[in-house]
Amino acid sequence: MIRIDHIGIAVRDLSNSNELFRKLLGEAHYKVEAVESEHVRTSFFNIGASKIELLEAIDPESSIAKFIEKRGEGIHHIAFEVRDIRAEIDRLEAEGFVPLNREPKRGADNKLVAFLHPKSSGGVLVELCQSIE
Ligand code: ZN
Repeated sequence: MIRIDHIGIAVRDLSNSNELFRKLLGEAHYKVEAVESEHVRTSFFNIGASKIELLEAIDPESSIAKFIEKRGEGIHHIAFEVRDIRAEIDRLEAEGFVPLNREPKRGADNKLVAFLHPKSSGGVLVELCQSIE
């Protein structure tokens, strides 16, 4: 794994939270992007070599809607950048982690992404991401 690419935070209202995080980080988000497959709208902030991703559900089917219903707003996942996402999935599976998707899918921010089940990773939803060239 290369670095923490971003921390994903589940929010109820993207515009309110964009304003909150602008005040917190001292700089506005640099983009908003909908990920239809995940039923979310996201925004991204740069913070040093990492990013903050805010996630707002766009319908009740979204895992973000379910997360907020259960636990309220807050940290949703940690994303690690990897060089070869398929090789990492194989390596982690051999170590006993449980991938939520074995086939990487297209995520926000021009990335291939895969998630690990939080029950296999100490209660932390882990995202692996690899930039698409
Ligand atoms: Zn993410």
